[in-house]
Amino acid sequence: MDCLFCKLVARDIPADIVFEDDDVIAFRDIAPQAPTHILIIPKRHISTLNDLTEEDCALVGRLQFTAQKIAKEVGIADDGYRVVMNCNEDGGQTVYHIHMHLLGGRGMAWPPG
Ligand code: AMP
Ligand code: ZN
Repeated sequence: MDCLFCKLVARDIPADIVFEDDDVIAFRDIAPQAPTHILIIPKRHISTLNDLTEEDCALVGRLQFTAQKIAKEVGIADDGYRVVMNCNEDGGQTVYHIHMHLLGGRGMAWPPG
């Protein structure tokens, strides 16, 4: 499949990986929007949040829990952080393999742009 993040999971393209288990991999964003900007993705290809099924509920929970673990590890948990998942064009999605952004190390504005 011609998917950037599937290639990254397969190690066909390089990444700065910060966490990996059987189901999930996390790596530093190539164009960081904050001092900490890490992407947490399922290893299995799911194109958008609209493609989730009931069976994926635990997997999405795993993404969120992984974000918490990494936030603690990199030292942004107490100050705070933001997690974002973009869906389709209006959501600002550019890579069509679902991913959770973990952003921290600076104050975040609200509302988002
Ligand atoms: P989104 O716009 O929500 O789909 O987010 C896609 C993210 O993937 C962007 O923040 C990109 O900077 C990031 N990205 C694209 N290519 C790579 C790559 N090869 N390694 C790491 N991050 C990437
Ligand atoms: Zn993929």
